[in-house]
Order: sequence, then structure tokens, then C-alpha cells
Amino acid sequence: MSTSFAKPYPRTWNEFLDWFGSEEACQAYLEQLRWPEGFVCPACGTASDPYRASRLRLMCRHCGHQTSVTAGTIFDKTRTQLRVWFAGAWYVTNQKQGVSALGLQRVLGLGSYQTAWTMLHRFRRAMVRPDRDKLKGHVEVDETHLDITDRQSVTPSSRRKSNTNKLLVAIAVELVEPKGFGRIRLRPIPKDTEAHLLPFIRESVDPGSKVSTDGSAAYRSLAGAGYDHDRHVMLGSDTPAHVSMPGVHRIASLIKRWMMGTHHGAIQPSQLAPYLDEFVFRFNRRTSRSRGMLFYRLMQQAVVTAPVTYLDVTAKA
Ligand SMILES: [Zn+2]
Repeated sequence: MSTSFAKPYPRTWNEFLDWFGSEEACQAYLEQLRWPEGFVCPACGTASDPYRASRLRLMCRHCGHQTSVTAGTIFDKTRTQLRVWFAGAWYVTNQKQGVSALGLQRVLGLGSYQTAWTMLHRFRRAMVRPDRDKLKGHVEVDETHLDITDRQSVTPSSRRKSNTNKLLVAIAVELVEPKGFGRIRLRPIPKDTEAHLLPFIRESVDPGSKVSTDGSAAYRSLAGAGYDHDRHVMLGSDTPAHVSMPGVHRIASLIKRWMMGTHHGAIQPSQLAPYLDEFVFRFNRRTSRSRGMLFYRLMQQAVVTAPVTYLDVTAKA
């Protein structure tokens, strides 16, 4: 290890500037995050201090395999300096409501909108922790419609070719006693049917949890799936939905506000999932004492998240 860091992350922007003033310092930080116990060869699995053929090249002493600290991470084969990526990660995690690609392009002085958009997209990919724990306790589940303006393409100039779509999103939120919310999970779904809602609940909520839903038939097999199902039948009821299902209503309105505010309601429908991932990342860490902590979590996940190219992303659009 060429440099070691006394603390896991910088606390302030001034500390950030002190820590990450050079490409070497950024590489050393990534190396520490990726191999906290020291370098392990991705080819043969041998743990030993590598040869350093150049600033970037690491070579395994055992099998001769050459790699770099960024290979297989969201920073793989990037032409943007790590310092700029780091500043981007700091900015993205320090803006409470996040940032649009245009905003990121401006603040980092990036040459192209596409570079900013790709960077943001890779960060969003890293915002989902693959081994995250399921929600538990008392969980509310419902669906909501989001009005999304379809931009057709990712360039700002093409915004005029837009039309509005109503997209369906499944929401799960932990209720905390006596009041307040815990963590959330979100997923775009094509239809509000059992075929889409039950897998969402199975993958998001621990069996044995109490799950509150409306009276929809889509939830009829929840009890059989091992949940304590609490049905709120709305039909003919005098209780409005925001009273009987306060959690999902609150989350739905926060998502709508975020999409209208930070992103001006303009998101490609096929890209909704990564935006929701970003919302979940921010919401579930809303009580973090330090913004530096969010930066640290994002960077930790960035070094274990496989890269995605601009073409990968737009090909699916
Ligand atoms: Zn090796």
C-alpha cells in the first residue's frame, strides 16, 4: 500500500481536497477499499503485494496476471480522471436531493453531457447493495403511478419531443413505532398484478413480517407465502388512503417531488429503475450524521460493481 488513510473518509470539502489532490492518491484510496486486507490476485486468488509495473498496472507475483485497481469496477476503462470521478461522487452524495446530469456537467466542468450522464448512471448502479437485508417488522406495500416525461433521447436538445407516461411503481416501507418510517424498497412494475407484486414482496420483505396492503386481489396469497397479512379494504370505506396507508403515501409524494424537482419530471421510462435505486439509497441513509459517510458507502460499492458502458445503457433504452 503506497498510502494509508487514517480515517475511512474525509469529513469536509477541505479534507477531501487534501486527500484526493492527485491520481495516485485516488488510486491508493480505491486500492484500500477494494483490498482492505491487501492485494488479492483476481486471476489466481493469491494474496501478496503486487509488482507495480507502472502507476496503474499491478502484476501478481505468483501467476504474472496484470490488472489495475479500476478493472471490473465502475471506473473501468474510463477516460475521465479519477479526481473528477471522486469530485463527482462527493457532489452527488452531498446534494441532499441529488443532481441532474446537466448540473453535474456544469459543476465538474465536463466537456460533454454524455460523460456526465454516464458518470451519474454508473454511480446509480453502485447505489444498490447486492447483499442488502430485507425489510422487516411492520411493512406497508402499495403501488403508485408516476408521471414521467419521455425524453426520447438523453440530450437536452431533444426534450421538445416529449410525451408523458404513467409508470407503475411498487413501494414497500417499514413502519416504526410509535411513528415514522424505516427503510424502503421500490421497483417499477408493468402491471399491478400478483405476478409482479408477490415477487417484489418476496425479494424485499422478510417472511414473518406483518404486511399491510389494500384489499386488491393481487395480495391474496401473502398469508400463504408466510406473511402476517393485514388487509385494508378501501371499497366503501370512509377512511381516505393517506390515513390507512400513511407510509406508502408519504414515500410516493416524496418520489414525485424529487423527480419533478431534481429531474424536472424528465426521465426515460426505461431508465426509471436506476433513478428509483438512487432515491432508495438517499432515503435509507437520510439520517446519516455525515455526508462523507455517504461518499464512503458509494465508493465502497463502486469498487465491487461491474462497469456499464454508455452503449450498454442506451442499447436497452
Ligand atoms: Zn495471480
